[in-house]
Amino acid sequence: MGKIQFKYHPNIYEDDVLVHKSGICQCCGKQISEYIEHIYSAEDDDCICLQCVSDGTAAQKFDAEFVSWAEPVSDPEK
Ligand SMILES: [Zn+2]
Repeated sequence: MGKIQFKYHPNIYEDDVLVHKSGICQCCGKQISEYIEHIYSAEDDDCICLQCVSDGTAAQKFDAEFVSWAEPVSDPEK
């Protein structure tokens, strides 16, 4: 299984936000072996699988933005 590419954060695998522990994704409910922590400043939900983050499911579910590491974009559709 290849690594998921993050459009706004291509170096995510080199940063500390990726946690390699088992847990349950609080977005899709799947059991996961690695997840992203501390990406939503306004929510306590801190166990989000990579898939939910990369496809936007997490952002929609929690109505949150990746305020801590999202790059400013000029494209209004983003
Ligand atoms: Zn998930």
